[in-house]
Amino acid sequence: MNLQTDLKISIIGAGVSGISCALLLQKLGFSTTVYSKHSHNTAHTDPTFVSLFPAASIIPHSFNHPELESLYTNSQSFFTTLLEHNFPGVTTHKHYELFAIDEEIPSYAKQILEFRILSSSELSNVLHHPTIPTKTGWEFQCFFADWGIYYPNLISAYLACGGSIIYREISIDELHSLEGDIIVNAAEFGGPALSGDDFKPVIYRGHLLHIKNAPVLKDNNGKIVSYNFTPGADIYSSSEGDPMDIYCYPRNDGWVLGGTRQKGTLNESGSWIGEETKPPFTEMNGQLFPDQLMELHGAIIHSSFGIDIKDYPEVRAKVGYRFMGNKTKGLKIDTQEIGNKLMINNYGHGGAGATLSWGCATKVVNLLSSAIGADPFTAEELCSLLQD
Ligand SMILES: Cc1cc2nc3c(=O)[nH]c(=O)nc-3n(C[C@H](O)[C@H](O)[C@H](O)COP(=O)(O)OP(=O)(O)OC[C@H]3O[C@@H](n4cnc5c(N)ncnc54)[C@H](O)[C@@H]3O)c2cc1C
Repeated sequence: MNLQTDLKISIIGAGVSGISCALLLQKLGFSTTVYSKHSHNTAHTDPTFVSLFPAASIIPHSFNHPELESLYTNSQSFFTTLLEHNFPGVTTHKHYELFAIDEEIPSYAKQILEFRILSSSELSNVLHHPTIPTKTGWEFQCFFADWGIYYPNLISAYLACGGSIIYREISIDELHSLEGDIIVNAAEFGGPALSGDDFKPVIYRGHLLHIKNAPVLKDNNGKIVSYNFTPGADIYSSSEGDPMDIYCYPRNDGWVLGGTRQKGTLNESGSWIGEETKPPFTEMNGQLFPDQLMELHGAIIHSSFGIDIKDYPEVRAKVGYRFMGNKTKGLKIDTQEIGNKLMINNYGHGGAGATLSWGCATKVVNLLSSAIGADPFTAEELCSLLQD
């Protein structure tokens, strides 16, 4: 390593993106401080602090960027290493993506582990909706982050190696006087205001239902399974008429059910303007949850596993905002000068910030290396820093 590690680095953002970057930079020997407007310790529901909400499959859904392939490949290397070293909350199991319509194989399929298209006879045997026949589908070995375990442990890992978090909001005017020579802008919804990127973000609002104490879903061989299912635009679609999927992912204490992507943005005072939930709906925690989401999941889970969702009435409902990025492309990951400091931007992670957290952190480290004339790191070299 030919790194000049006496540099001080300020990271703005204590979500999964900021903490993943901070952990790598701290492990490389830099002195880092994270600044955060929000505290993950406080029970709050601000939908713009997105790391309160990931479902969190390690699949690049609702995200687009020309470098998606390398970001995703690098992230998978990290999740592989973390799983091998029993990092709390990292799991893997067989995952199904099923469609009642014809669907093209996603470009990231070639990177996914054990990806396999299902034959029509297999499609009729795997999990299914009782009245909506599955037409296309595939299975693969998928990583998941059991969020209530993974994210707090990520923060603990950062603090344990000497990092610190200061809970305060940073304004663009303060950037010049912020401690350190380098700033990482991992502020997601706060990112554009810090980089001077003047635009309203496109948001996909998502509803999550955490069904507490529900049993793990298992296939006939006793293996844990989870699913995304797309019923078809005539049954379940976005406001623009595009077919949408619903999903069910396991947690150590139940399931997380989701599947909404309501398009909108924020007005000047930070309030939602955009698609509203259409009736019939149920009000939970002051938010409207479409009944259709629960009905579709209930039907699949009952017909595939014989489990009645109503037997598990303890439900935690959450609504979060996926920040779909800057004006021209989704993710903003680049460098800019702020006076005599260098700022590395890393915001706009859409529905894949957990998935791409390590790929983006690798890119941030290499943007920094390039700026200070050091050699780039491979993901494997950086992964090895997390092996203790
Ligand atoms: C319903 C839903 C389901 C999702 N499911 C998945 C999934 O299955 N898989 C997946 O990979 N992703 C998923 N995502 C997306 C994922 O949750 C996000 O991409 C990710 O959490 C973004 O993390 P982040 O650290 O970039 O941003 P955030 O978590 O929003 O963190 C931003 C940080 O910046 C701080 N901040 C902001 N402005 C300032 C400022 N001016 N000064 C100081 N601090 C500031 C905030 O306080 C916070 O600490 C989902 C999102 C939603 C809403």
